Amino acid sequence: MILRKDISNFLKTLNNDVILVAATKYVDADTMKEMLNNGINNFGENRVDSFLRKHEILKHENIIWHFIGHLQRNKAKKIIAKIDYLHSLDSIELAKLINDNRVTPLNCFIEVSINNEENKNGVKVEHLEDFIKQLQPFSNINVVGFMMMSKIGSDEKSLDKQFVKLDILRNEIEIKFNMKIPYLSMGMSDDYLIALKHHATHIRLGRILYEK
Ligand SMILES: *Cc1c(COP(=O)(O)O)cnc(C)c1O
Repeated sequence: MILRKDISNFLKTLNNDVILVAATKYVDADTMKEMLNNGINNFGENRVDSFLRKHEILKHENIIWHFIGHLQRNKAKKIIAKIDYLHSLDSIELAKLINDNRVTPLNCFIEVSINNEENKNGVKVEHLEDFIKQLQPFSNINVVGFMMMSKIGSDEKSLDKQFVKLDILRNEIEIKFNMKIPYLSMGMSDDYLIALKHHATHIRLGRILYEK
């Protein structure tokens, strides 16, 4: 996969206030360099091994590193010091590991299982308040937002509902905990336009950026 030839035209269609996190699981470091030349420098990986490989090659570039995939605890230590944002905080055990292995606070999105699907990653909606309370002692966890994945195969109306639900939840938590939760990481290639209607601040785009 290579970067779309008309990428600059595509980028112009995006709102300037929104952060495009390029999902880089499809591409190698060369394509990422090309993206840097086109003004894309927020990269999101979802596997620890490929993150480490690409980070080693590109670590001196001006990149904001996001980790967007599920982070297994047995591999987490290897990347905790190297990332700028984690989009998938979903357990207290992981939070503790991060807290113990960071020198400075890590910006974290709590991944919320907005559809309460079984066997899916993310904190269930009914556990979210408790989860946030449990995070409070961890001075190296900086909660900046919520992240969600929409349900595969949803129609537009259902996507609207899912994204609105996270936005409302954010407002409720902000009031209840008297805290600011500035960011919503939601929207991928097939549904980012809908996510943007509902105040997404970080869209995680993969396929739409590349071509064969
Ligand atoms: C791959 C991936 C994306 C991007 O998905 P596309 O459908 O390719 O845009 C977003 N978020 C996560 C967590 C991913 O793994």
